[in-house]
Parts: sequence; structure tokens; C-alpha cells
Amino acid sequence: MNNETLLKNLRNIPDFPVKGIQFKDVSTLFKNPECLDIMTDELKEIYQDKGITKVVGIESRGFMEGCILAHELHAGFVMCRKPGKLPAETRQLTYSKEYGTDTIEIHTDAITENDIVLLHDDLLATGGSMKAAYDLVKSFNPKKIYINFIIELTIEGLNGRSVFPEDVEISTLMKI
Ligand code: AMP
Repeated sequence: MNNETLLKNLRNIPDFPVKGIQFKDVSTLFKNPECLDIMTDELKEIYQDKGITKVVGIESRGFMEGCILAHELHAGFVMCRKPGKLPAETRQLTYSKEYGTDTIEIHTDAITENDIVLLHDDLLATGGSMKAAYDLVKSFNPKKIYINFIIELTIEGLNGRSVFPEDVEISTLMKI
């Protein structure tokens, strides 16, 4: 897709949060009403006929468009959060990162076997954090899981899509 307006408005911050990282700052898309409309319209177009019942947003940049899209699809919105943030009973998953481990949580009553789930985050890099969210949601045994990112990083050596099973439909609005 690579909408010109989105590409033009996405801000790149070199060396943030550490030297060598080209940080894609989606705050410039969210503050722009036209970009917010474009993202929401494109996502609605992709998912409106899929029967999505829950959109799961990944903390924290996956919460914004995830929740807007859930509203547009007449689906519910579920937060996938870092440990200790969700107040009720949670199911957790701990996964390995380049250095050490990380844990994510979802409320145990947030997803059922009848749900068709769309997982959403702002950006796909290595795919590690979304794969953990996918595995956690999969453990609830929903009918189907879709995955979406606003941005897919396609720089050499980074193939984030490869960490997901081949039959999982993954969409991205921008490849950069
Ligand atoms: P990964 O697990 O490697 O796919 O990383 C994806 C997560 O890290 C997303 O939640 C992104 O918000 C964040 N992230 C990783 N790399 C970048 C980047 N270059 N610019 C902005 N966010 C990034």
C-alpha cells in the first residue's frame, strides 16, 4: 500500500533510544488528522469482512489504533500489557529476547474460544514481541488469529514475518 501521505508524515529519529537504531516515530501519524483517517480507513477495509470480535493491542503504541479499529469493526478491545499493570487475574507468557527475558500479560477473561482475534502493534522489526503475543493469544484457543502492523521494517537481515506460522495472515500498511 505505502500511502504517500503516511510515508511523508512518519518521523525518523536516528540513534533513539540507542546509537544505531532508526526509530520510526508514529506520534507524527497520530497527531495528524488526515493520517489517522487514512490508517483507520485502510485497516477497516482490510478487516471489515473477517468477522473480528476482539482486537488485541500491544502495549503501548498498539493501544491507539487498536482501540480505534476495534470501534470501527464493532469488536471489543483487549490490552496486552507488561507485567503488573492489569488488575484482574491474568495469563502470562515469558519469552527470550536478545538480552534476557520479557513477560506479557492478558486478562484471563479477555479472550474466549469463540473469538476471532486481530493482534495489532505499530511496528514489525524482528517479530519477537508480536510472536510472544501471538503465542499467548493462541493459548486461549480462539477460532482464528490475524496480525497487523502499521509499519513493517524490511531492512536487510530483518525478516520479522518468518517467526510466524505460514498460515497466519499478516498485513502491514507501510513497508520501509
Ligand atoms: P520486534 O519485537 O523486534 O518486532 O520489535 C517491535 C516492537 O519494538 C514494537 O512494539 C515497536 O514499537 C518497537 N520497535 C522496534 N524497533 C523499532 C524502530 N526502529 N522504531 C520504532 N519502534 C520500534
